Amino acid sequence: MLSTQSFSVIVSDFVSLFFPNYCCACNLTLSKSEEFICTHCRAELSETNMHKNQPNVLHPQFFEIPGLTYAMAFCWFKKGSVIQKLLHQLKYDGNEELGVFLGELYGKQLREYQYHEKIDIITTVPLHYLKYRKRGYNQSDKIAEGLASSLELPFLKLIKKEVNRKSQTRKDRLQRFENVASTFSALRTKESICGKHILVVDDVLTTGATIQSACQPLLEKGAKISILTIAAVK
Ligand SMILES: [Zn+2]
Repeated sequence: MLSTQSFSVIVSDFVSLFFPNYCCACNLTLSKSEEFICTHCRAELSETNMHKNQPNVLHPQFFEIPGLTYAMAFCWFKKGSVIQKLLHQLKYDGNEELGVFLGELYGKQLREYQYHEKIDIITTVPLHYLKYRKRGYNQSDKIAEGLASSLELPFLKLIKKEVNRKSQTRKDRLQRFENVASTFSALRTKESICGKHILVVDDVLTTGATIQSACQPLLEKGAKISILTIAAVK
């Protein structure tokens, strides 16, 4: 007689025989012990390890956030890199669970450095509602869900985006700063934000302009800010 556990193993083996899982970066079939990415791509992630050193190389980029506490990015973003492929799937191919996985992965590393004891709330840089409606989700929310689960911290929506601007990708640094100015506001009262240490999460860090603007309403309400992204452009 089969136990329920061994029966479920047989069922999952049977399912993966016909519906195998593929690596989100290289498309090779995953083994039973692998999730979302294969061991080879996992080793190719080019992790920054910058959470081990605070302050670090990211801090000077956030000159508009006085007293920025921690800044960290999970991986270096390079063209054709594993992390670029993963973030593309998360943003444009509807692979929401991959975002949760990446957040959990980095969250486990942060836990080893006691970040769960230093931060009060996790929040995200929001998308404008039109973009949100088109994509169906905010990719940064998925990353934050994974982080919140690994770190056992609350994930709350604290920032609102006011105006939908044109895509940032083809603008230079100065134009980007002008473009994102005053487009964010706080969703909570000063009483619920003041004095709290808030970790603001975004998917990719390029110039830092968007994240800095998103943090302004929290700073104005007296929050202590830290920043996390999954990738940072070198
Ligand atoms: Zn792979």
